[in-house]
Amino acid sequence: MTANAVALNAQCLCKAQTFTTTIPRTSLPLKGSSCHCDSCRHVTGALRSADAEWPGPAADIAAAANSGDGTLKRYQFSPRSHVLFCGVCGSKMFWEDIDSPQAYQPQSAQQQQREAGEARYFVFAGVLSAAAAAADGDGDGEDVGVGRLVRYEDHIFAGDTLDGGAVCWLRRLNGEDDAAAHPVRVWLGGRGKSEQVPPGEQWPAIKDLAAHGKSLKAAGEKEGSVPIRCKCGGVDFVLRAGEAQRDFEARQKNGEQLPFFVDPVTHKFLASLDCCDSCRIWAGSEMMNWTFSLLKHISFAGGKPVDGDPGNITELRAAVDACDPRLGTLKYYASSPGVQRYFCGRCSASVFYACDGRPDIVDIALGLLASPDGARAESVTSWSLGGQFSWEQDMVGTWREGMLHAVKKDSEQWRIERGYPKSWLRVAREQKAQAGGN
Ligand SMILES: [Zn+2]
Ligand SMILES: [Zn+2]
Ligand SMILES: [Zn+2]
Repeated sequence: MTANAVALNAQCLCKAQTFTTTIPRTSLPLKGSSCHCDSCRHVTGALRSADAEWPGPAADIAAAANSGDGTLKRYQFSPRSHVLFCGVCGSKMFWEDIDSPQAYQPQSAQQQQREAGEARYFVFAGVLSAAAAAADGDGDGEDVGVGRLVRYEDHIFAGDTLDGGAVCWLRRLNGEDDAAAHPVRVWLGGRGKSEQVPPGEQWPAIKDLAAHGKSLKAAGEKEGSVPIRCKCGGVDFVLRAGEAQRDFEARQKNGEQLPFFVDPVTHKFLASLDCCDSCRIWAGSEMMNWTFSLLKHISFAGGKPVDGDPGNITELRAAVDACDPRLGTLKYYASSPGVQRYFCGRCSASVFYACDGRPDIVDIALGLLASPDGARAESVTSWSLGGQFSWEQDMVGTWREGMLHAVKKDSEQWRIERGYPKSWLRVAREQKAQAGGN
């Protein structure tokens, strides 16, 4: 490999699936796109999917998907596209696009050579890396850093989110330095086929958003329940959020300590921005969004709790192992000792994160919540914006670091404009730091 070549890798979390291609350094950055549509949220579990056209040969990807051994699984996402994902760990790897309109100019010789009718492959940005790929040519294998791998051009289908979802803090996701030269466009629907949100404007305007303080405490059983649903419907659970909020309020009045994820004022559940590498690879896009629940507030067979519903993560794991039909297509991958990542074995949706240290709690992939108030599900969740994000050290020192700093700033500004309070966790952290400083 010469100093001007870069080896790009697409690798899943369990490393069973690895694709590599060598491209000229000048073909970077790849042109990326970020989709916020209902289907992408329910297939990734994140609030957006993110991808760029794979600049390598299509044949090895097609061969892996066609091999029939089920390790690179194919899910029909739409009449013209499939999601290819790792059947072992659930990482979303590629979009397989059959006969897609020419949305991008081909960026590599291999793309130019592609014949009409051949599928095009778009790599999920989460699995993409070039670490240790760019030897500096002197033979010592030293990584000189390859800089930005993807430059996002646009956000599409923002309108599907109803409330703006994560677009509100991702306007400058290529970083502050890049924002003026390469503004990221926002389309309410498809690229070039829908209304474009003018640069510098929020959609929806903050004044048009419903009050964020609304909770589900007074809601009846039906209105207070929010589906946790994957794209294919194989995972179809119910979060009894109204009941949980009432339960936590009563516990607090009783002097009991609340779980870490419960907002002590609204009794809604923490919603987080998570920068961890594993979540990025697994969900397919940067900055995964999680919320949290006690397992006892989740119904697995229809809306009502049933005797024998898993009440802790040992029971949840046992039910999946026993192919309990209540759990539908739910599978798990043990990503490290004491940690299970649950996903849909049919469409790949990330569903839960569970760890032995918190036996009664699951992290819920926020993109799966089908809340009538929008993608952020604000009647259920209490967002922690600005301040410190989970695992932000994973983005520091990488080409994604600019995204981290821009999102921190923009989410804080949005929080203030929206009149959203600082999260109780952040307040506690800041008080502690202040006390330590005195
Ligand atoms: Zn895997
Ligand atoms: Zn989409
Ligand atoms: Zn599914």
